[in-house]
Amino acid sequence: MSIPSTSNPLLYLREQLDDWRAAGTYQRLRILESASAAEARFDGKDVVNLASNNYLGLTTHPKLKEAAIAAVREFGAGSGAVRTISGTMRIHMQLEERIAAFKNVEACVVFQSGFAANAGTVSAILTPEDHIISDELNHASIIDGCRLSRAKIHVFAHKDVAAAERILGELDGVPGRKLLITDGVFSMDGDIGPLPGLVEAAEKHGAIMMIDDAHSSGVLGRNGRGTVDHFGLHGRVHVQVGTLSKAIGVLGGYVCGSRDLIEFLYHRARPFLFSTSHPPAVAAACLAAFDVLEQEPERIEQLWDNARYLKAGLSGLGFDTGISETPITPVMVGDAALAHQLSRELFAEGVLATGIGFPTVAKGRARVRTIVASTHTKAELDRALEAFAKVGKKLGIVP
Ligand SMILES: *Cc1c(COP(=O)(O)O)cnc(C)c1O
Repeated sequence: MSIPSTSNPLLYLREQLDDWRAAGTYQRLRILESASAAEARFDGKDVVNLASNNYLGLTTHPKLKEAAIAAVREFGAGSGAVRTISGTMRIHMQLEERIAAFKNVEACVVFQSGFAANAGTVSAILTPEDHIISDELNHASIIDGCRLSRAKIHVFAHKDVAAAERILGELDGVPGRKLLITDGVFSMDGDIGPLPGLVEAAEKHGAIMMIDDAHSSGVLGRNGRGTVDHFGLHGRVHVQVGTLSKAIGVLGGYVCGSRDLIEFLYHRARPFLFSTSHPPAVAAACLAAFDVLEQEPERIEQLWDNARYLKAGLSGLGFDTGISETPITPVMVGDAALAHQLSRELFAEGVLATGIGFPTVAKGRARVRTIVASTHTKAELDRALEAFAKVGKKLGIVP
């Protein structure tokens, strides 16, 4: 008789982990032992940090830190409840009003994260009778929101406006609402969504237009207002999601749109209803971040200057930087084990840049992703390029 496997019903997890170890795709968490900054200490080693979304150096900006500390002193460490029970503090409302004014929309609601904003919004505003038309490379939080809504999901090839329009055309006259949804900037390739074409297609077919500006908040548009501002599409995108966790330097996600949309989400978005609101320090630091965006636009200029510098350097060394148009610059490798090896050897040379493979990107499309910040010095970027040159040659990725 065989021994029943009931002694450890989670044994299959260990087997899967062992498979990943054998395949070279097992990932150990690197431990950050300093603040998240352009140069940072991970696992006891000081490295040039090309793996953070802290585009503008706001995680350590004195105005954000002071605002957070002052909020803790006055209002405490936590909010005590979900927004709809007793956890809506004055400072939460101030932040929403501030973002709505910044984005030039009627209203805004802040969620605990960008993930919660996407998943909570898509699942709240659609039903199983509805249709979602979604770019194949949209973020996981959009995909989860689509699944939770149980609407029918129609995926179009990456940035293929004609394909999106074809699907919308086929759905003309089919019952149910249509939602056309795209990332503003795609997080793994750093390319910009084809918003003007998609907006036109949505308008032509009466679809709801939604964009996720997680990587464009604080990066694209005037003072970092995002892709709608970048393309001059004010008033033509019904649902704009942004994050407070990346360039804004803190934590959170938000949805901007009409007053009706926001009040509906107050009543139906499940993360809003069932998960506690941000600590007051988070809201205070975010408010300070919007002051900085308006008062220190030179940070955004420096960010783009650094992005051009690093991209040109990597291409000059012979690396394939894919289709990036933003400070997210992938170094395409193909094989996942090789991408992780490149990342490990870069770390040994003093550079943190993350290896990314399946399921975050498609099989055979593995890469090392770099993200520069406005706060990197040219000397730091030169050190990073030297490391890329050395390791890239050693691994046979560049000649
Ligand atoms: C990071 C990211 C999110 C999630 O934002 P968080 O605030 O970190 O939860 C959503 N969408 C895209 C495209 C992202 O890159």
